[in-house]
Amino acid sequence: MNMLDKRTKIVATLGPASENPETVRALLLAGVNVFRLNFSHKTPEEATLAIAMVRAARVELAVPAAIMADIKGPAVRLYGYSKPMAIETDQVLLIESRPQEEIERLEAPAGGAYTNLPDIDRLCAIGQRILLMDGYFAGEVVGRRPGGIEVRIGNPGSLRPKAHLTVPNVDYPIPFLSDKDIRDISFAVEKEVEYIALSFVRCATDIEEVRRLVARSRTESGARPRALLVAKIESARGLASVDEIVEAADGIMVARGDMGVEISVESVPLAQKRIIRTGYLAARPVITATQMLESMIESPMPTRAEASDVANACFDSTSAVMLSGETAMGRFPLKVVETMGSIIRAVEKEFDYEGFHRSVPPNVRSGDLPAIMSYNAVSTAYQCGAAALAVLTETGHAARLLSRLRPGMPILAFTRDETVYNQLALNWGVVPVLLPKPYERLEEAVAMVGEATLAAGAAKRGDRLVIVAGLPLARQGTTNMIRVETL
Ligand code: PEP
Repeated sequence: MNMLDKRTKIVATLGPASENPETVRALLLAGVNVFRLNFSHKTPEEATLAIAMVRAARVELAVPAAIMADIKGPAVRLYGYSKPMAIETDQVLLIESRPQEEIERLEAPAGGAYTNLPDIDRLCAIGQRILLMDGYFAGEVVGRRPGGIEVRIGNPGSLRPKAHLTVPNVDYPIPFLSDKDIRDISFAVEKEVEYIALSFVRCATDIEEVRRLVARSRTESGARPRALLVAKIESARGLASVDEIVEAADGIMVARGDMGVEISVESVPLAQKRIIRTGYLAARPVITATQMLESMIESPMPTRAEASDVANACFDSTSAVMLSGETAMGRFPLKVVETMGSIIRAVEKEFDYEGFHRSVPPNVRSGDLPAIMSYNAVSTAYQCGAAALAVLTETGHAARLLSRLRPGMPILAFTRDETVYNQLALNWGVVPVLLPKPYERLEEAVAMVGEATLAAGAAKRGDRLVIVAGLPLARQGTTNMIRVETL
């Protein structure tokens, strides 16, 4: 894999179509930077195997790659029937609330279903819009009775068991984390995955709750838990609180699948632009997800609209684009990654990086030296025609501050920390480099950075390199130096 040939990163979901050592290796070589494990569908045994595969491949190929555990979150579903239910136009379905602990064992009377959403009759007025099976069925509440509602469904079809139930614009009175979510998060921390993605985040408090859980969980190696938290924005509530969520989280996902059901589908493109901008201004990586190359689940070629969608997410300045079913269960997992890579590269040839830098407000608080240094490092790099930026980083923060500005030159991020090295695989434009040893003397570090930049092919002799570092070296939070080297 050539880390220099694209700046926007690719997140690929693993599943039956891709979960074998050869495909994982091929996907990494084709440009996947982050492997996502969807815990809505994975047992811990399956996840253990997938994690081992990614680790083996990234070590063998000596490339950084992150593993992201995607946690199911507060899902509201229909239960009480074990076979698909035939629905006719204008059929009235009775949906009743039942406790989560017993719901999977219960059988609903014919023409009815149960839901784990408590007090559904009190949450829904007559006329409330109801969506079933990710929006496939649309209906409205036509009757209420104690503990239940009658929903008239407007279109025919076959309702799958455990289909999603969506009550748009209503806050669900259910805890953010189920017992399964708590077990899955503890498992992800134990396995020391780099990222944990959280579904249906509603506010900063949800993130803080998970941070506490992560901090008191144990890792396999006994090391301090380090997983970074990605907030998936997919509900009206999450969207309304996006500023505080971005502040509280380490990264953000535009989860367009559920978002398109929870808010109206026509609101998704504008929400995408707003979330991406909020993310990069705050130096958080942003992932744009779902149905990006959906038709490639079956077809070797994307639709033109899909190609435009991937390109437009790049023009919006997303950090990463994500593949779900396309790589998890599609027929062409490798081809889809190659296609996505080609679309990204085509956009990146044309993108106006310097214009972007000029248009982004510095957002630098007085005295915030790392932010001031990174902003001026990118300005310096443009002014002196530098071929690359290099940053010595302990936590990855200094590299994220450079990435936020979407510079036109590669950002080589040098770190001694293997977790940071793999975490930075997600960040736009960042090429992580693992340092074999610590450096105490500045001149030694500068020489090493210069050699490594040449070896990576990011610059040639005679080119300028802008180096951002902190003195004394190898201390956290000390970014205070910009140096221009002629290689
Ligand atoms: C989404 O809804 O867009 C999403 C990414 O979440 P999931 O795939 O878990 O439904």
